[in-house]
Amino acid sequence: MAITGGCFCGQIGYQVQGKLKDARSCHCSKCRKVFSAQASAYAVVDASEFQWLKGESLLTSYTSQEGFGLQFCKVCGSTLCGTYQGEVHGVTLGCVDGDPGIELGMHIYVGSKASWETIGGDVPQYQEGPQDQGGTQDQEG
Ligand SMILES: [Zn+2]
Ligand SMILES: [Zn+2]
Repeated sequence: MAITGGCFCGQIGYQVQGKLKDARSCHCSKCRKVFSAQASAYAVVDASEFQWLKGESLLTSYTSQEGFGLQFCKVCGSTLCGTYQGEVHGVTLGCVDGDPGIELGMHIYVGSKASWETIGGDVPQYQEGPQDQGGTQDQEG
């Protein structure tokens, strides 16, 4: 069964015909702003398995340096997905409907977390990114 998601106002919806991967929460200052929260909650998808079901015309985009971007609902402001070079790269876990079939596997950039945040649980925490993850987390969560 496909994973589905959508924005707060319900006008945009998508589905993923596959599994979400590499779920992580990034605590850097950029992700706090982008997600309007203490951290991001984000998982990678295969672009070929991702499809907008409705409301694609209501998407608005922000693209930062190096081709990383984010797409939002321009009506309600939900952050729906991350993009890389114009293709969907991953989805925000907060906009997935129901169980995304995955749990957060790591907390990254914990060294930059907000002074007011407390992080509990047993999920591995990294001061920055894990060594083997390249340099992308800081951009798109
Ligand atoms: Zn919306
Ligand atoms: Zn971040």
